[in-house]
Amino acid sequence: MTSPIPCGRFAPSPTGLLHPGSLLAAFGSWLLARHHGGLWRLRIEDVDPPRTVPGAAQAQLQALAAFGLAADGPVLWQSERGDAYQAALDVLLAGGQAFVCHCSRSELAASGGIHHRCVARQPRPDPAVRFRVPPDSRVHFDDGLRGPQQQDVHAEVGDFVLRRADGCWAYQLAVVVDDAAQGVTEVVRGADLLDSTARQILLQQALGLAIPRYWHLPLLLDAPGHKLSKSLAALPVDATHPLPVLRALWALLGQQPAALDAATTLPALLDTACQAFNPTRLPRQDILLPPGALSAPMLQNPLSPT
Ligand code: GLU
Repeated sequence: MTSPIPCGRFAPSPTGLLHPGSLLAAFGSWLLARHHGGLWRLRIEDVDPPRTVPGAAQAQLQALAAFGLAADGPVLWQSERGDAYQAALDVLLAGGQAFVCHCSRSELAASGGIHHRCVARQPRPDPAVRFRVPPDSRVHFDDGLRGPQQQDVHAEVGDFVLRRADGCWAYQLAVVVDDAAQGVTEVVRGADLLDSTARQILLQQALGLAIPRYWHLPLLLDAPGHKLSKSLAALPVDATHPLPVLRALWALLGQQPAALDAATTLPALLDTACQAFNPTRLPRQDILLPPGALSAPMLQNPLSPT
């Protein structure tokens, strides 16, 4: 059997404009796929209407286009994928791997919010659907950057939600169904999602889907142990000057800055980056930003250096 063409993806939630951390994940996944001659897909994860910001998805897609990060095939919109999620849910319900749950958040507070058995005192009109996680559901996987990982999903997470009480599809189900539908073989994303991976692998196993390789990029920190401050993390990247932004991200991805020196146009820079990219140089630890690294010309709204 030949292995499939590598396929990466970027799957932003339309909760705001693209910020440096999300563009770092987009560029990292694009480089990994393209460097290996693979495909790169886009997906808008708009399954959570309360968190969706009107116009954000279009703005994200425009920004990606301005950075030259073009995808193969049409953009997949999760808001249009309800039938596919329902079909997957039906399979899990029929196999007894999912169940309708009437427990409320307050009823689960006594067990730290972790669901191991239903404790609802009365049925509710809007029950959730959960995935049943049996005892000893320890998942092992080898992260492309962080090496061997494991999680006891039963003890640490419990039975997790597939369809929420408000009727929205849960991220864990939607992401698994769509990564499979888009033929994704390489999931490159921020380390804040490392903790979701074991749940996604359990779902892939239950649904008989292929398990992609996972690469969790480090988080951007502005001081040792400090996640990028909300204000910095929320500032959108400046898509009107893509070259300096991509050069800055290239360096943050551990790549040789000089490799891009000769490129003066966006297509030339992306082409050179694709060829010069070396996955073994990707950072494995959180990235401590040097002072000023996120000032002009990277951000739309440059902060004055302190
Ligand atoms: N939609 C998620 C986010 O924007 C990313 C999901 C993923 O990459 O698996 O944080």
